[in-house]
Amino acid sequence: MMKNIVIVGGGTAGWMAAAALSKVVGSKCAIRVVESDEIGTVGVGESTIPMIRRFNEVLGINEDEFVRETRATFKLGIEFVDWGKIGDNYMHGFGNFGRNLETLDFYQYWLKMHAEGKAPDIEAYSINRMAARSSKFMRPALDMPNSPLSEITYAFHIDAGLYARYLRKFSEAHGAARTEGKVVDTVLRADGCIAAIVMENGEQIAGDLFIDCTGFRGLLIEQALKTGFEDWTHWLPCDRAYAVPCELGPDLLPYTRATARPAGWQWRIGLQHRTGNGHVFSSKFMSDDEAASILMSSLDGAALAEPKLLRFAAGKRKKTWNKNVVAVGLSSGFMEPLESTSIHLIQSAVARLITFFPDEGLDQADIDEFNRQSDFEVERIRDFLILHYHATTRNDTPFWDYCRTMEIPETLRRKMELYQAHGRIIRDNNELFSEVGWLQVMHGQGLKPRRHHPLVELIDEREVAAYLEETSSVIKKCVNVMPAHAEFVDAVKAAG
Ligand code: FAD
Repeated sequence: MMKNIVIVGGGTAGWMAAAALSKVVGSKCAIRVVESDEIGTVGVGESTIPMIRRFNEVLGINEDEFVRETRATFKLGIEFVDWGKIGDNYMHGFGNFGRNLETLDFYQYWLKMHAEGKAPDIEAYSINRMAARSSKFMRPALDMPNSPLSEITYAFHIDAGLYARYLRKFSEAHGAARTEGKVVDTVLRADGCIAAIVMENGEQIAGDLFIDCTGFRGLLIEQALKTGFEDWTHWLPCDRAYAVPCELGPDLLPYTRATARPAGWQWRIGLQHRTGNGHVFSSKFMSDDEAASILMSSLDGAALAEPKLLRFAAGKRKKTWNKNVVAVGLSSGFMEPLESTSIHLIQSAVARLITFFPDEGLDQADIDEFNRQSDFEVERIRDFLILHYHATTRNDTPFWDYCRTMEIPETLRRKMELYQAHGRIIRDNNELFSEVGWLQVMHGQGLKPRRHHPLVELIDEREVAAYLEETSSVIKKCVNVMPAHAEFVDAVKAAG
């Protein structure tokens, strides 16, 4: 029986796991979080995707309170600057585009009309992207089901350290215990499972199930169990980042900005009290000094700290669940934050653990399925990230030349070829990013279909043109009535 769950690590991963487990299985199991103040947390992770709202909802967290506690702002998507070529600018907005006509997705009609010069960019048909461009925000108007205002889809920019602190309060209120101190060793059972962790003061903490949330160290999953790591740095060569907060700029943007740089890219994320910035780069193609100088010379306001260097490698553990250890967060692997997927991967790992919860002991079939699903999820996200680097015409630096010409995974190659043939986008079973997510990035990076979907011809072109025109004009009117993002955030702050 699983009676004692020990979560090692108290960063975003540790406290998200503790919050969800204490809420769902806390009445049956004792939950303890062990964290070291001296080691601290990675201290970055500000941009999220809409699924985080579901996580908070399941916990019963009040969203306005969450926004105040984490100094959050709202996020409608990500802007990509200079990716397909220098001078390009597109967004990956959350949410849908138009309404589907007959049997086909909206975007199939748009692809044909756009290719023939009869429709503007896809952005005109997205309430999220149009609102983001005007720095507007409101929550979806669910009482207006036929309006694009009901389809606004959002996430947050948060201070992840404050989120962890907030979830700690939540978890402790739901019965989770906390031990402060450094884990220095583990005691293994004869079957190779972990029996206990050993603290610096000699105390042993025994458990039935261990959640490894120790960050890049992978203290249990790797150092103790030697699970192994699958390296993806040949596809995602960025391996370092400088991060620095600065004073707020003039505009509180409701989106993350990702600007391509000579050997990587730079993020800009506005919170209530500061702007988070970081420069992700490949150490094979750029020195630390040059990377820091690019970052520090392109801030919107005065820096609030010295830039902090973080080192990482893209890839994943060969198994995220090995024996009685489940790796959650950075200990399970890492992909750069280009599409803000890390905090989401924590959430989905915790949800999956709850689905396969071993209440009566470990069952290898459940563990294998957990690992299969985890692999599928991260491999599809990996492909999506590689797309941003590979589908480019940039050849202005050795880094971009490498990315443009590198071999890519077969799964991504198939997706790109299908799109380039007929504009078809196949979403494999339950993968994270939707068809319109892939569309926005493939189109934004400059890929073009050679032909359009044959069924598009079934509707008279004048009807399609009128529908496209009406959709974009309704969206424009909706954006006009939305409040400014900064005003909306101020109202939430004032309501507290
Ligand atoms: P950590 O924050 O490193 O926490 C590890 C915990 O383990 C700490 O509490 C530490 O004290 C404890 N610990 C470690 N060793 C021991 C020990 N021996 N004894 C006791 N305790 C120990 N994600 C997003 O979703 N969006 C983003 O925009 C984003 N940006 C990022 C930018 C960069 C450059 C990087 C590197 C990551 C980014 N991430 C982002 C990922 C995000 O930071 C992490 O997913 C998230 O913070 C979770 O980290 P963690 O809890 O797994 O690890």
